[in-house]
Amino acid sequence: MSKPTPRDPLLIELIAAIGAGRIDFGAIHERGHFVYGWCDEKNGRVRFNPAPHAVLICLHEMIHRMRPAWTERGVSSRATRLLSQMSDQEVDRLYEVILSTARVRKRADIL
Ligand SMILES: [Zn+2]
Repeated sequence: MSKPTPRDPLLIELIAAIGAGRIDFGAIHERGHFVYGWCDEKNGRVRFNPAPHAVLICLHEMIHRMRPAWTERGVSSRATRLLSQMSDQEVDRLYEVILSTARVRKRADIL
């Protein structure tokens, strides 16, 4: 049995800082880029923009549903390309659709 890899002490520090809060969820728009998160260096608040990740995951998984013969690599590259064709506003709108239609499951799916 191999020894478990020791945890990086930075992880413990980060988990404690996350628990202390000062984190916001919300859209972030920057022309030409999808911004997944941002730290305001003036006040230390972290803003997390879940929309691009959620939309990318949804595009990816919907391609699996609609094009089941495609390879994982093909699905991943196409989903990324499709996301890059969307504006921030389109991503935000599709994220709202996802939030309004998705069921929240309390138990993890065990694969
Ligand atoms: Zn996949």
